[in-house]
Amino acid sequence: MSKLVAGITQSPPASLTKAFNHDKVTPSGPHETKKFAGRCHCSAVQFSVSLPVASLPLRSYFCHCSICRYSQGTYARMGVILPPGIEPDWMGGSMSEKVAEYKIPGSPSPRLFCSTCGSTIGGVGEDGTTTGGVPVKGQWCMMVSLFDNKFWHHCAHAFPKSVPGGGLLDWLLHPGAAAAGAQQEEILWYTPDESDFSVAAEPEHAADGTERLRAECHCGGVSFTIPRPTQDILDDEYLRKYVSPLDSTKWKAMLDLCRDCGRSSGANVVPWMLVPRTYKSSEPTVRGFCGVCGATVFGATKHREPTAGQAVLNVAMGLLRAPEGVRAENWVTWRAGKHSWLEDAKAYDEEFTVSLVEGHRRWALETYGEASEFDVV
Ligand SMILES: [Zn+2]
Ligand SMILES: [Zn+2]
Ligand SMILES: [Zn+2]
Repeated sequence: MSKLVAGITQSPPASLTKAFNHDKVTPSGPHETKKFAGRCHCSAVQFSVSLPVASLPLRSYFCHCSICRYSQGTYARMGVILPPGIEPDWMGGSMSEKVAEYKIPGSPSPRLFCSTCGSTIGGVGEDGTTTGGVPVKGQWCMMVSLFDNKFWHHCAHAFPKSVPGGGLLDWLLHPGAAAAGAQQEEILWYTPDESDFSVAAEPEHAADGTERLRAECHCGGVSFTIPRPTQDILDDEYLRKYVSPLDSTKWKAMLDLCRDCGRSSGANVVPWMLVPRTYKSSEPTVRGFCGVCGATVFGATKHREPTAGQAVLNVAMGLLRAPEGVRAENWVTWRAGKHSWLEDAKAYDEEFTVSLVEGHRRWALETYGEASEFDVV
């Protein structure tokens, strides 16, 4: 964090205050406002924000740092910082009864998530805290994917150096695909280039010497390893459908743009890898999250369990600790030529969806010579 603050002298750079929507303050005198409602996946947490029409659209941001990846399970945090003086209106009783708080030393605000469904909600800047020199006391950051309707424009990025292997960053910024539809000149980088919150990962092996890929949430409360496909899995008629059709040592990976994942993770897209469950469970797996830090860990897989011995899990790839980078390309084949729930995602947030899907496909074509369209059943 010291590196981040070291370059700041008197006033923060204009791009930072723009990313924080400091120029979008409520005008004095009569003005028109518009209300935007939002909720978590289970609807225990419901809220609305009233924004001056003249301030719209607000600028939203992506944070690519390891803290956001590991505490959400997604490749980036997708937030919108409400202008100073604007607070969410929490419906149905006190917000504090329904959310859990995860406090990280050095972070400008505790991270709030629904204690029932794990959905990341956002946070509010505390006394005396700053981000890159911008005072954020009382300013709310809300996750965009919880809202029913879009009122933001994606144009700011934080910690681009903290995402080894690229993550969402250069899929969105792929040549020819401007960041989520933004014009290049509108893109704001609100951390200095040298800020690096990446975490190096070492190769891991099981006691029998076989390779393992670790998944771990930010607080460390959830930590497990994933093996490569074994001969037993390749011999299983059901489970082998989840092995990469291009490389039998890898699993399948996909970007999930559905609104359910958006509501439960707090980001518009969740990167999932599909792996057979190796432990016994008495119930079909439903959405799973870390109760301490709120990270999305597993996805809904009720329909992927024909028998107790053949259950397949969605694992949130933001948690992975692959030495080659966050996309874990030595462990998965990405389905980059086909994306599910595309129409729903476009209806909700077209600029983001089109930019990501286009960038993902182009990246696969340039990196692998093809953009796979396999089924993820
Ligand atoms: Zn909830
Ligand atoms: Zn972050
Ligand atoms: Zn955790």
